Amino acid sequence: MPKKGNKRWQQSRQPMSQEPHDIADDGEKKNRSKKDIQLLRGFKDILPADQGPVQYLQTKATELAKFYGFGKIDTPLLEMTSLFRRSVGDVTDIVEKEMYTFTDAGGDSVSLRPEITASVVRAYNEHGMLNLPQPVKVFYWGSCFRYDRPQTGRYRQFNQFGLETIGEMNPAVDAEIILLSYLFLKEIGLKVEMQVNSIGCPNCRPEYKKNLIAYYRRKKRNLCGDCQRRLLKNPLRLLDCKEEGCQELKSEAPQIVDWLCEECKNHFMRVLEYLDALSIPYNLNSFLVRGLDYYTKTVFEILPVAPDDQPERRQSALGGGGRYDGLSAVISGKEAPGCGVSIGIERLVIEMRKQSVEPPAKKGPQVFLAQIGEQAKQRGFQLLEEFRKEKMAVGQMFAKDSLKSQLELADKMGVKYVLILGQKEVLEGTILMRDMEGGVQENVDLDRVVTEIKKKLKDGKIRSV
Ligand SMILES: [Zn+2]
Ligand SMILES: [Zn+2]
Repeated sequence: MPKKGNKRWQQSRQPMSQEPHDIADDGEKKNRSKKDIQLLRGFKDILPADQGPVQYLQTKATELAKFYGFGKIDTPLLEMTSLFRRSVGDVTDIVEKEMYTFTDAGGDSVSLRPEITASVVRAYNEHGMLNLPQPVKVFYWGSCFRYDRPQTGRYRQFNQFGLETIGEMNPAVDAEIILLSYLFLKEIGLKVEMQVNSIGCPNCRPEYKKNLIAYYRRKKRNLCGDCQRRLLKNPLRLLDCKEEGCQELKSEAPQIVDWLCEECKNHFMRVLEYLDALSIPYNLNSFLVRGLDYYTKTVFEILPVAPDDQPERRQSALGGGGRYDGLSAVISGKEAPGCGVSIGIERLVIEMRKQSVEPPAKKGPQVFLAQIGEQAKQRGFQLLEEFRKEKMAVGQMFAKDSLKSQLELADKMGVKYVLILGQKEVLEGTILMRDMEGGVQENVDLDRVVTEIKKKLKDGKIRSV
């Protein structure tokens, strides 16, 4: 790469190496030259070198989900806006402020999905999964979009892994979802604990809401603007407010556990019994409400365990979920209970860094195939295919002609064997095999080289054990 090009690459890479900053306004944007086409604020590229942790997490998540009988589901990035207005809720930050909504060429209002549960429940109803043996267990991995303030670990396009169990009321379902959320993070090596609560059902929550409104009405003057507005429409969200004044008021507020009906109380007790039996570390947090309207009964969040001098780290959940027995009816008119979790992948990667958790290093190829000359390149491509059929990783750089630069790359990769194919070797049907550790090199039959290398690597493995 020419020097100038290299410099430009580094410049464009720079914003990548840091997290997006808080921005008070779009001042910086205006100063940018119109000619510069750049990444949108709050979005990010994931370069090949940064794929490792994400791929590792995806493999782990998939293995765990499949073992527990969850099948993968993919739903579109774009949905009808009304899906999210009805499910997530009109009076939520997500729908009010953060959705990417536009009118498409056909005149329909559509939105980039801000979360995936609503889409999964829509798909469950639309494809008649109600007629399958219940419950239906699915997992997803995909991008969501929210026009949020960009800050550490928060992007406007972010990835979520999630599990949903639909069609069953049994509290064992809630326990299984919480268990899998916990196991996923624990097996990666993260220290986490669960916050759990029950927010009741349509039978008991209205009475609680009434009391909550009555309590806050007396303190209305001390509430922040948002909360004053939310007080009548969505009083539970007042418990979620991060403003200091509202936080203070919360400590005296009535607690939902005192208002749960018998059914909700029993359900919650049974979930907690499972968590105790499974030794899942959790805290009861009677003010945990989650930011979406559709939850009923069990709600939970996964918080990182952080040192005492970093309390702010414990405030940012890595994921969360709960039961949503009313969601299906809201979307499709058909009743179907459900419970699920979603986990934010970008935050997880950052938390892994904070807790010094590294994904296991991937082993690179142990063989490098170098070529000199046009004929060798052509024969080399064929040889490479022979290795691929044997599922053996082989490094190469067919884009280069110089042996020196090929050997430099082989050295960087730390391979055990370098195979060198020149014009003379192609004509003779041989190839030069160099043992990089011992420095010995020998001529091997081109037809036998794959078998030969396979044998040597196998012998080496036995010796090193
Ligand atoms: Zn209830
Ligand atoms: Zn507030």
